[in-house]
Amino acid sequence: MRTLRTGSRGTDVKEVQSLLQRLGYYRGSIDGIFGSGTANAVRAFQRDYGLAADGIVGPITFGVMEPLFMGYSVYTIKPGDTLYKIAQNYGTSVARIMAANPGLIPESLQVARRILVPWLDVVDTRIDYTYEIMERDIDAFRRLYPFLEFGSAGQSILGKELYYIKLGTGPNKVFYNGAHHALEWITTPLLMKFVENYAKAYAEGRAIRGYDIRRLFERSTIYILPMVNPDGVDLVLNGLDRNNPYYNQLLQWNTTGRPFSQVWQANIRGVDLNHNYDAAWQESKEAEAQYGITGPGPTRYSGPEPFSEPETRAVRDITYAIDPRLVLAYHSQGEVIYWNFMNLAPPESLRIGQALSGASGYVLDQAVGIASYAGYKDWFIQEYRRPGYTIEVGRGTNPLPISQFPRIYEDNEGLLLLAAVIQ
Ligand SMILES: [Zn+2]
Repeated sequence: MRTLRTGSRGTDVKEVQSLLQRLGYYRGSIDGIFGSGTANAVRAFQRDYGLAADGIVGPITFGVMEPLFMGYSVYTIKPGDTLYKIAQNYGTSVARIMAANPGLIPESLQVARRILVPWLDVVDTRIDYTYEIMERDIDAFRRLYPFLEFGSAGQSILGKELYYIKLGTGPNKVFYNGAHHALEWITTPLLMKFVENYAKAYAEGRAIRGYDIRRLFERSTIYILPMVNPDGVDLVLNGLDRNNPYYNQLLQWNTTGRPFSQVWQANIRGVDLNHNYDAAWQESKEAEAQYGITGPGPTRYSGPEPFSEPETRAVRDITYAIDPRLVLAYHSQGEVIYWNFMNLAPPESLRIGQALSGASGYVLDQAVGIASYAGYKDWFIQEYRRPGYTIEVGRGTNPLPISQFPRIYEDNEGLLLLAAVIQ
């Protein structure tokens, strides 16, 4: 992480502001601008944590903040401690402490042993959700919820990992993915927050919306790939980096006259990943002309051939490896669920789609025109003749503001659970 001080701007400043706000040190807005209010909050934090109060977030201060970003504190057990007492002090539960420290025996705590105490939320749903933040949150999940499994489906053009998370061990396998489209990055924290709430409920033996999560864990396996297009998301949220190997081409390809942060849906080579699957790909290609598309660009370019991009190949290959009974591809916006592709969907797709519609309040519909070609759910339906859905969350113009997050999560949590059990 770079050093942050008065005058710094960026998604990382938002992250620090949001943490300081959650800890009660900062009352200003989470605007990504490091002003005097942020500096004062950093000083107050530094005093409380025994650091030199210079108001600068350098390596030492960041080192102290890092576990907090990851939702926990490291605690050294003192004589007379019980897990219950520690949990009370941090406002957390014994079950969560137990889950994060395998082998810990509550009846015989060893004095001076250092344990992880999870007490803050890992996934911060009030900030721009970059690849780096997702990566750190996955690292936090690894530490705090060791019963989850993690892997990578492949790498993006620029070498970022296409991480996936596996929830459960059951025979009923489903696969959810998000952020095929760069502007639609709000779908990544949606899936990551779902993972966190699921893991927390599993650790505590709780139900969510009537679903007994430990039972669900044994009945179903949910694979989640939260960010299919990390290079594109990075371009939208962090801007075009001078060192980007496609720097000059990206400037040429963006003929909109508007910033990448407002227009870029494609991957870093200007291919729209949701038009790159081998399902009516030729139709998608032929439809480009009517949208004035002649090559790489912000949106709707299908690529030189189906599966020309490493991101779509990785999603295809992990789908083959999982062999899921049902898939959900998350996009924004419109509050609508698309369920069919060229009438190839199996009979149960409509009924399940209606149930998902009921759980979310989203409208069930069939895509028409260019949007209905060469997307992930199209390919899945064509390949497997099993239920596959594109879910468009939220309302407005992409990129949706993160202020829509609470509503989007509320609408989709029940749907995400239902899709893992419905037959
Ligand atoms: Zn989309």
